[in-house]
Amino acid sequence: MSTFGKYLQLKPGREHSVLQRHPWIFSGAVAKVAGEPMSGETMDVLAADGKWLARGAFSASSQICCRIWTFRQEEAVDTDFFQRRLRAAWEYRQSLSLREITDSWRLVHGEADGLPGCVIDKFGPFLSCQFLSAGAEYWRKTIVGLLQELPDIHGIYERSEAEARIREGLEPRTGLLWGEKPPERLIIRENGLKLSVNLISGHKTGYYLDQRANRRLAGEIAFEKEVLDCCCYSGGFGLQALRHQASKVTFLDSSEESLELVKDNLSRNDLPAERTEYLKADVFVQLRRFRDSGRKFDVIILDPPKFAETRSRLAGACRGYKDINLLALKLLRPKGHLLTFSCSAAMTPELFRKVVGGAVQDSNRRTRVCRQFSQDADHPLSLQFPEGDYLTGLELVVE
Ligand code: SAH
Repeated sequence: MSTFGKYLQLKPGREHSVLQRHPWIFSGAVAKVAGEPMSGETMDVLAADGKWLARGAFSASSQICCRIWTFRQEEAVDTDFFQRRLRAAWEYRQSLSLREITDSWRLVHGEADGLPGCVIDKFGPFLSCQFLSAGAEYWRKTIVGLLQELPDIHGIYERSEAEARIREGLEPRTGLLWGEKPPERLIIRENGLKLSVNLISGHKTGYYLDQRANRRLAGEIAFEKEVLDCCCYSGGFGLQALRHQASKVTFLDSSEESLELVKDNLSRNDLPAERTEYLKADVFVQLRRFRDSGRKFDVIILDPPKFAETRSRLAGACRGYKDINLLALKLLRPKGHLLTFSCSAAMTPELFRKVVGGAVQDSNRRTRVCRQFSQDADHPLSLQFPEGDYLTGLELVVE
């Protein structure tokens, strides 16, 4: 029986996913919750026959009523536990030799690092954190205390604003957690570029670190090419293209602030302003304008925001992805490249291939897929947790 007297017991036959080490338990699989745990508190997970299965954090409000911390009965969930997990996460990133190409990486990637609901990004000497589940929230102070001991960290900032927090019954929260407040324009290094990142008001934790490797690749194929960077945010893709002597880059984003960030980054890197164009526009509208005016490109990047936050919005999202991919395919010159992405977790790589395949079919263009993309290695995947495979992408070459 439970060591704490607080436990969750599954319905008969519902232990399969826990035995497969999937870290989430949905409320529909639960027969009873005993001991009145507070939201976020640690409790044991038992099979219907009373067999111990795991230990996790209770969430009173979410459909995911428990996120598992450990599948080992002898492992207590305490400060030492978080220290071990954080150390393992730190050492894994050290093993990736990222320092040669950047000073910024994801230090903790939630479930894949054995820390469900925790996202911690390192930007130079600052950390930007998201505590997105009741369990992560419960252990927040412990985690922040341990993070202070990491080498060369000057400040820790919180950006717990994601929609996921609302589903967990948690209020959004942002602010300085420890140390120095990060400057509004923190300059990070990435693949030869100096980029300004705003940890306080930038997107997500400040910047999209997950596309690092894909941006470098976009640069490599852009030599003397005319590039369209759709949904460019701070310009990561297009700036790499300019660094690799693209003949022209058009930066497109619906937000003026994003385009200002690109211009700021452009001048910081002494890249040629005369080879850039900026369009503040809706991607759905602007791609149609390009089509109608006969404008063509050699390389198009489509990196839109999440179209499907949850599975229920997937059908609409598929239509959106198909629409922009079809339009982009029509704008490519012969031998042109389309780099197309989805960062909706509900959009699996397989489904994304189908959706883009539909666009290819309707475009009447012959294409080859020359690469498939995922998030960079500092955002690892867990094979027990397919939901973590959120970023998917394809590089198509048209004939
Ligand atoms: N490619 C970027 C990340 C893109 S994030 C990088 O490498 O860092 C998505 C971007 O899409 C945001 O900057 C957002 O402002 C923009 N966006 C959202 N909806 C849009 C729309 N309908 N049309 C154009 N841009 C949009």
